[in-house]
Amino acid sequence: MSSLKFDTSTKNSNRSPGRGPDLLTLKVDTPVQFVRGVGPKLGERLKDKGVWTVQDLLEWYPRAYEDRRAARSIDSLQPGELVSLRAEVIGVTSFAMGKSRRKIWDIVVRDGTGKIHCKYFRVPYKGYFERFQPNQKVRVIGRVLNYRGRIEFHHPDLQDDTPETYADDDVIVPIYPETEGVTNRQLRKMIQEALTGLVAERDQLELLPAWMRTRYELPPRYEALLQAHRPHKDSGPELAEFKTPAHRRLIFEEFFWLELWLASRKQEVAREAGIKMRRDLSLVDALVRNLAFELTGAQKRAFQEIVADLCDRDPARPMHRLVQGDVGSGKTMVALMAALVAVASGYQATLMVPTEILAEQHDQTARRLLEPLGLKVGLLTGSLKARERAQALALLERGEIHLLIGTHALIEDAVHFKNLGLVIIDEQHRFGVEQRARLKSKGQSPHFLIMTATPIPRTLAMTVYGDLDVSVIDELPKGRSPIQTRVGFESHRGKMLEFVRAQITKGRQAYFVYPLVAESEKIDLKNAVTAFEDLQKQFPEYQLGLLHGRMKPDEKDQVMRRFRAGEFQILVSTTVIEVGVDVPNANIMVIEHAERFGLSQLHQLRGRVGRGEHKSYCLLMLGYAVSEEARDRVKIMEESTDGFVIAERDLEIRGPGEFLGARQSGLPGFKLANLVRDARILQMAREAAFEVFERDPSLRLKEHASLRRELLRAHGPTSLAGIG
Ligand code: ADP
Ligand code: MG
Repeated sequence: MSSLKFDTSTKNSNRSPGRGPDLLTLKVDTPVQFVRGVGPKLGERLKDKGVWTVQDLLEWYPRAYEDRRAARSIDSLQPGELVSLRAEVIGVTSFAMGKSRRKIWDIVVRDGTGKIHCKYFRVPYKGYFERFQPNQKVRVIGRVLNYRGRIEFHHPDLQDDTPETYADDDVIVPIYPETEGVTNRQLRKMIQEALTGLVAERDQLELLPAWMRTRYELPPRYEALLQAHRPHKDSGPELAEFKTPAHRRLIFEEFFWLELWLASRKQEVAREAGIKMRRDLSLVDALVRNLAFELTGAQKRAFQEIVADLCDRDPARPMHRLVQGDVGSGKTMVALMAALVAVASGYQATLMVPTEILAEQHDQTARRLLEPLGLKVGLLTGSLKARERAQALALLERGEIHLLIGTHALIEDAVHFKNLGLVIIDEQHRFGVEQRARLKSKGQSPHFLIMTATPIPRTLAMTVYGDLDVSVIDELPKGRSPIQTRVGFESHRGKMLEFVRAQITKGRQAYFVYPLVAESEKIDLKNAVTAFEDLQKQFPEYQLGLLHGRMKPDEKDQVMRRFRAGEFQILVSTTVIEVGVDVPNANIMVIEHAERFGLSQLHQLRGRVGRGEHKSYCLLMLGYAVSEEARDRVKIMEESTDGFVIAERDLEIRGPGEFLGARQSGLPGFKLANLVRDARILQMAREAAFEVFERDPSLRLKEHASLRRELLRAHGPTSLAGIG
């Protein structure tokens, strides 16, 4: 750092690089405040946004490009086009929509040819809307949407169109994601300064080996950054779509670092010594003989893959396998069969599930199927009495429990296995990596089997679960009649309620699910309680149960248990009903405000019914004033019952963040890459990352030194554990 000389003044702007020792030379890790034109005050604001260094600043990529060569008139706009135009603000209004009172902002603008609405469903940053006054000149950059037969913009970029801003000389102007207190104009200027300051360092910026850049036709990193932030004056339409070679390079790199890390982890596992199980299927055969049904082909296939991991690897390695199967595809059976392979070899197995009620459910199933084979099943949950618990723990430690089923109570320190050989985790998206690791530490490199009913599109699986092997159960047991799904509007409510009543009269039960309103737990609770009271008035002759996010886990379990026992005819719920819960007598799922759920979530919820012999129904009720897009999206549920098809559509429509839900951990945030748009680049980056380890398993080659350094920097020394 001592060789750096800083000049934080903003006045003298006509200096050019290469002029002498006072030249501001930047490095990628130079703190951002030392970029010309930034200074301590702006620097602080940027830091709040996670921009600490020159590198962070350069990765503040444009979210769009304004093409001033092709400014458009409002009357010429077509749905689907990405456009920029000059206009004048007519007015700014906001209104609350629906029961949630969610606020929508509307800026109406006009030009000589017409007017158009710019709608915002959230506030980009504090003070954003206060910036715009009637008659103000603005530039609008956004994608034209068709909303109920009228075109409009949703979340366009709105920029002041003052003579000052317009004086920016380029014809193609990058539009940055703005944040409070830093304007686009400032961002543009400081990013250009950063690029200029880095000229001398340009070769050091390159981290990808030459063979990779040649193979995948990737321009050098500095060139790519330059092009992304200062696009060529005669760029074609691929610029707006982020499809230039520069974008491809930067997107590739974002994926590549993630895949390199996943590949290193996978390699680490591949070197770990594991337990070799005997290929003894006698217990499995006995189990299967006692079943009232045939296994599906997909169940058999998944089981064979597991057996190969457990018994056939030479030398033995711990299995790390994810089983993905749609709701109701029979994952539990596959898990039990895997447990029996471990038991036949003299090992214990454990099954961890996210809730007590699921644990009890699995415990009942396992006892029914395994006790006739002379095996002992144990249950460990938080609500066991001290004596029961002590007894279970003692049996476990003596090796007298073959399969232990439980909640996260399993990972407590007091739990000791005699010889744990297989860990099975059900509905894994509810458990963090940390909990997985602690469970693992209870055995000597036990095998791992993870089961999830959330079908994950292939691209996501490559990122979130990129270090696991995957088995897919893509077939439902024979004879299930598909759940009949209907989308309904408010006007259908009377009919819907009559339908529910008719089914309950026949002895069935129904779920009513309400969406979460993320902004406020209080409103949630109020919605649920109000809905509950309304429904009770509609159905005075029935018992209703209520389940919501403010309840304690044991209160929730209590309500679920009573519903399962048939004490309630209707269960009203705000939160997602526990995944995997099986109430075969419930055959109706009513989902209110279905437009607020993701398709995959709707699919999960729908999977709560259709689990018994009764014909089942899913009724998706739309709120007032839903857009055509939202309605069409929900309609997909009428057409498909395939979780994978639905997941792909969901990802396409909503993007990965929304798809997995905000709380989903493990999904890296990409700055430029988009899992849907860039699926092919992801595939390439993954290939490249795995090839690195094929060519150079311990990253010793000189051309891979930068890769080794990056892994260390980003993930610490343990990331090299498998590399040596
Ligand atoms: P999920 O994959 O959602 O966890 P479960 O394992 O809970 O599904 O299975 C759902 C139901 O289907 C259970 O009642 C189970 O006994 C039953 N089942 C599992 N496999 C089959 C099969 N091959 N044929 C018929 N029914 C099956
Ligand atoms: Mg299950």
